[in-house]
Amino acid sequence: MNDTTVIQEADALVVGGGLHGTSSALHLARRGAKVIVLEADYVARHSSGVNAGGVRTLGRPLPEIPLALMSREIWHGMTDLLGEDGGFVPSGQLKIAETDDELQACRERVALLESHGFTHEKVIDRDTVLELEPALARHVTGGIWVERDGYALPFRTTTAFRLAAQRLGARFLEGTAVHRIEQRGTRWLAFTPRGTFGAEKLLVTAGAWSGDLAKQVGEPVPVHPEGLMLMVTHRVAPFCHATLGATGRPLSFKQFDNGTVVIGGKLIGLADLSSRHGEVDFARLVRSARTVTDLFPHLRNLGVNRAWAGVEAFTEDELPVISASRKASNLYYSFGYCGSGFQLGPGCGKLVSELMLDGTPSISLDAFGIDRFERGAASSSSAASSASAAHLVTQ
Ligand SMILES: Cc1cc2nc3c(=O)[nH]c(=O)nc-3n(C[C@H](O)[C@H](O)[C@H](O)COP(=O)(O)OP(=O)(O)OC[C@H]3O[C@@H](n4cnc5c(N)ncnc54)[C@H](O)[C@@H]3O)c2cc1C
Repeated sequence: MNDTTVIQEADALVVGGGLHGTSSALHLARRGAKVIVLEADYVARHSSGVNAGGVRTLGRPLPEIPLALMSREIWHGMTDLLGEDGGFVPSGQLKIAETDDELQACRERVALLESHGFTHEKVIDRDTVLELEPALARHVTGGIWVERDGYALPFRTTTAFRLAAQRLGARFLEGTAVHRIEQRGTRWLAFTPRGTFGAEKLLVTAGAWSGDLAKQVGEPVPVHPEGLMLMVTHRVAPFCHATLGATGRPLSFKQFDNGTVVIGGKLIGLADLSSRHGEVDFARLVRSARTVTDLFPHLRNLGVNRAWAGVEAFTEDELPVISASRKASNLYYSFGYCGSGFQLGPGCGKLVSELMLDGTPSISLDAFGIDRFERGAASSSSAASSASAAHLVTQ
């Protein structure tokens, strides 16, 4: 494993074949870079392939909004980029308020966004909510609506990015875990049980496992795994068009064309990094099922078909790390998407490719620097505190 005989060379090595790895690989390859993606399991095995598919700019922390809006434009043009749309449906996203206080919080959130020049979230009243979603319980008081949001199919999207990158020459090696990274001279080496890979630049997109690689270069990051849960119901006649969230309690909810309903909303189960596995906590799922039946009483007797948990990376301030290393040259990170990184994947891959090839991305990534944790709680979190002020319940 420490053999420095390089078996394959590239311009850039990407460690991790989730959506952020595949998207970065595609955007790098589009710029002419020779890319190798090293994936421990198989592409889209973890969060990127098993998430709720929410393509949501709604409810984002302030620093993420420019990235999310840029990414959303890529979602709307996905077929041009990939030759297919990843199952993207621009259903709109609706965050429901269930009390007057919650509606007031929605108004304050939207006013705050407007004071920063963001106009994509709109407050809507109860009648408009019920016009959009007539099956909702009558106690709703209003909400926030974003028309250009929607949902997509996670495994299909991540695979589509992989295939598009491959068509441009990127190589994907699955079952190839990087155990160690090391810079020798101007070259990065990635040591795997299948041999050693070399490149001038190295990108870590290893999701919840990224902290270990950052630590190897003396750059520890407070990132931890959580097992995020989802459940999918049996088929039911169409009753819900938009992708829904709630303001006062965690919820993410959508009905697919085939009639099944996917229910989630940052529901925390169990995660084990060493066994690379997430586990469902049924007691917590029950609470979420109750939120759904409060909002859609007619679903009370609907059966659950399947439940699962994916391993996701969370940071202390609930913002991702999208950054050049501060300790080593030509080393880059993109991880820690805290349950909301699917929507960001297409755009962040582009920004990361700009960071790696040009040095300066077209949208500032200053809020996502890896050194923000070192700079201490006080400063690290001017971004984070405005982020949480602007958060209602995200997802
Ligand atoms: C249940 C659930 C629901 C979610 N719902 C939404 C949603 O609706 N909308 C939204 O925007 N986001 C959602 N998310 C979050 C989103 O899925 C993630 O933020 C995003 O997919 C993260 O992508 P990634 O590429 O950073 O990480 P991952 O998808 O985790 O990919 C990282 C990859 O790196 C590989 N790897 C790790 N270590 C190594 C190593 N040493 N060597 C080689 N390979 C390695 C892993 O095997 C993995 O394949 C949800 C997540 C979950 C779990």
